[in-house]
Amino acid sequence: MRTFALAGNPNCGKTTLFNALTGSSAHVGNWPGVTVDKREGVYKGAGENVAIVDLPGIYSLSPYTPEEVISRNYILDEKPDGIINIVDATNLERNLYLTTQILECDVPVIIALNMMDEVKKSGDKIDVKAIEKTLGVPVVEISALRKTGIKELMQRAVSMPKQRKGETVLKDALHKQLETACAYYEAEGVASPLFHAVKLLENDEIEVKRKGADKVLKSAAADVDMEAVIADERYKYISGSLAGAKVKAQKDVLTKSDKIDKVLTHRVWAIPIFIVILFFIFHLTFSENLFYLNGFTEGQAWMPSLVELGLATEEDGPNNFGVEILAIFYDGAVFSPGVILTNFLNLFLDHISDGVVTLMGNGGAAEWATGLVGDGILGGIFAVLGFLPQILVLFLFFSILEDTGYMARIAFVLDRIFRRFGLSGRAFMPMIMGFGCSVPAAINTRTLADEKERTATIRVIPFFSCGAKLPILTAVAGGIVMAFGVGNADVITFCMYLLGICTAVVCVLLMRNTTLKGETPPFIMELPTYHAPSFKNLMLHLWDKTKHFVKKAFTIIFASTIIIWLFSHLSWDWHYLPDEEMQNSIIASVGMLLQPVFTPLGFGSQLGQFGWVFAVAAITGLIAKENVIATFTTLSICIMAYAGEGTEEGVEELAGIIQLITADAGISQREFVAALIAFIAFNMTTIPCFAACATAKAELAKGKFKWTLLFWLAVSYIVSAMVYTIGAYIWPLAIWFVVIALVVTFIVLRNIGKFDIMKIFKRRKSK
Ligand code: GDP
Ligand code: MG
Repeated sequence: MRTFALAGNPNCGKTTLFNALTGSSAHVGNWPGVTVDKREGVYKGAGENVAIVDLPGIYSLSPYTPEEVISRNYILDEKPDGIINIVDATNLERNLYLTTQILECDVPVIIALNMMDEVKKSGDKIDVKAIEKTLGVPVVEISALRKTGIKELMQRAVSMPKQRKGETVLKDALHKQLETACAYYEAEGVASPLFHAVKLLENDEIEVKRKGADKVLKSAAADVDMEAVIADERYKYISGSLAGAKVKAQKDVLTKSDKIDKVLTHRVWAIPIFIVILFFIFHLTFSENLFYLNGFTEGQAWMPSLVELGLATEEDGPNNFGVEILAIFYDGAVFSPGVILTNFLNLFLDHISDGVVTLMGNGGAAEWATGLVGDGILGGIFAVLGFLPQILVLFLFFSILEDTGYMARIAFVLDRIFRRFGLSGRAFMPMIMGFGCSVPAAINTRTLADEKERTATIRVIPFFSCGAKLPILTAVAGGIVMAFGVGNADVITFCMYLLGICTAVVCVLLMRNTTLKGETPPFIMELPTYHAPSFKNLMLHLWDKTKHFVKKAFTIIFASTIIIWLFSHLSWDWHYLPDEEMQNSIIASVGMLLQPVFTPLGFGSQLGQFGWVFAVAAITGLIAKENVIATFTTLSICIMAYAGEGTEEGVEELAGIIQLITADAGISQREFVAALIAFIAFNMTTIPCFAACATAKAELAKGKFKWTLLFWLAVSYIVSAMVYTIGAYIWPLAIWFVVIALVVTFIVLRNIGKFDIMKIFKRRKSK
């Protein structure tokens, strides 16, 4: 089977073309640097099967970044049968810079002129025949997104001659030197001698190290910076040869993209706008009071609840099925789309699990079997699955922001701020990916060229709360609101996300000034043009997410809930214990043993005899974060039975156990709310799940992982202890704490790099 490699600049549409050719669904993002590794697939439409390899996006074939090294080594060492060089036709000049380098390799090349739909829309014209003639390789117009021209591209690709000699556009200044260098590589028997020769003259660090190469370089050396001369000549060639090939339509200077950017990347307004957009997203996903139609506080509420309308009762819930449906959308306030979808799924899941339990009961199943299936397996899995709609809604919004090109702007805007903390804007992409899952996020840090910056980023990625932690946030926030009737679930969730981000910022600042000191590398990224998000792309992202989540629910969570249920119903001498005796179970005694560890964080011994549930939940989260809520659900059903209280499924379980503990341990509402928020903070910042740990270990330099584990433990312990202490005891002081924090941040931001804070003190002393 012949192999063709897709090579091109970042964000030129390689992955879109790869997906169109191979029918796969790799991640496409309107963001330079999404594909870090190479990927393979098969194209079947050209009479014979051809293998297609998607290489990471690059601007040149010099080994400056990991992507460039991967792509260059692939082209030189694996010797593909041809290269499909994708060129973004809306950005012809810059894209052809790479083309001139690829043409220097001894390999057949075909150029795919992508984004022709955009070019046509803007009214520009490109003379393909002219480009083809100057470059001497086939050029085909395509649109990877609209799937036009793709068949022709592949047909011409497979009918190219099997061999091609490298050609260079450098014909002027360095002609002589190039000949000498070429002769050297030819004598050495190296493939693609021309390519290597040019790179040698560019002082390429790989070539210079070659034995005997330094001699050639010395003899060739002119009194000029050869790298600059070569770059200059490439650009001259491109602008010269293209002078007649590209005709620009008459248009005003500011494009639509530029106009939007004037607002969205404004010096002052960019960040506030971003925060407002984020809050809006959280509001639409989590709010149970859409657009605050029912007032901002309890006191302003004017919409009647279903109970007040006489449609439902406190004890039995909705009166009939019709009201149950109504309750999906409205109960005392209009719900947000995220909540509506969640309610809908939960209603469905509730009926299934009720049905199964009733069926088992009627069939005469043993009490333990009904318990295991109803409370253990279904309770645990459904508690987690129920959050899927909200996760999907949140990611739909994030995908839209990414696909339109907005996220790339934010990286650009944040670079200015990130720099002060010792990171470049490049680190923003892996962090945003961290909101989805830490695993691909940690892998994406490969785009960071600087090792120390990369280590710091990998360490803080878990603080960007991932999809699996979302049920913890939502459920606990919902539990607080329901048990105590205080706060808004969306505000709490939003603030928790912000807390995670702040923790990350502070940690990076500390690390970059102590253990991981170093220069912040420059960040160059050109901004992709804005475009409407592609529906298919969005759906693919969501489908990926769903698959991953459901698969996890029915494997890891499934297994974990069975184990947790078993150990909560087994005594140390392996006897079955009914719900009423679960305080004597293995898991209860282990939990009680661990309980004091969490006392400084608020969810330890002070929560009384049932408080061990929190300890157990936090520990099971180390396997997969979804386990935290699954564990809660499974255990609370039993504990409530033990305490002789009835239960309902969903958030109510958590609210129920919160009320039970409040009554049992005599703990004040404020203290408990602080403890619950500390519990979220702990789970958000502590050691991530098993998969994330394994990835971090693989991506970090040798010996760094154990320190990273320790770092996560320490951070989570400190952050949640702080949250608890401030929330429970020094709440009035918290205002001052925030003010002081703001002032300090401001001073630090202004002064980092300008002068050493210690100097001020020294100067004072000497006076
Ligand atoms: P890669 O970084 O080179 O792999 O580029 P991607 O395949 O991730 O695409 C980058 C962006 O360009 C995405 O938002 C795509 O939807 C968009 N895109 C890709 N091909 C085309 C095209 O032919 N026309 C238009 N209008 N957009 C495209
Ligand atoms: Mg890509």
